[in-house]
Amino acid sequence: MIMNVRTTQGQQFIDITREVQKFVEQDGLQDGFVVVYVPHTTAAVTINENGDPAVVRDIIATLNKVFPVQGDYTHFEGNSHAHIKASLLGSSCTVPVENGKLQLGTWQSIYFCEFDGPRQRKVHLKTVSGR
Ligand code: ZN
Repeated sequence: MIMNVRTTQGQQFIDITREVQKFVEQDGLQDGFVVVYVPHTTAAVTINENGDPAVVRDIIATLNKVFPVQGDYTHFEGNSHAHIKASLLGSSCTVPVENGKLQLGTWQSIYFCEFDGPRQRKVHLKTVSGR
């Protein structure tokens, strides 16, 4: 299944946990994994804290400190910072599913990570059955 994500800022984390859980329920998977895959070179997916929004803010701020938007880059598009952040965070994550439920920790959410927005983005979701 391909899910559309509309980002509204240059850099932004969007919590997609609810959509991934809904996909697992519609798919009917009881035991196995769900793979979340981002087919973009300037966006990523990561799992991190949902309790305090300051955590996401701090991650983005620190990435910008280490990889500033304007830096000593040579890539002609001028968005090297976004490519680097996307590679660091990664293009996929895998979450175990038990009894039809994502096995995330209490404070974990799945975040779509935009680094070169705003854009219309895609996320691939795929279940894998298994114990
Ligand atoms: Zn580029």
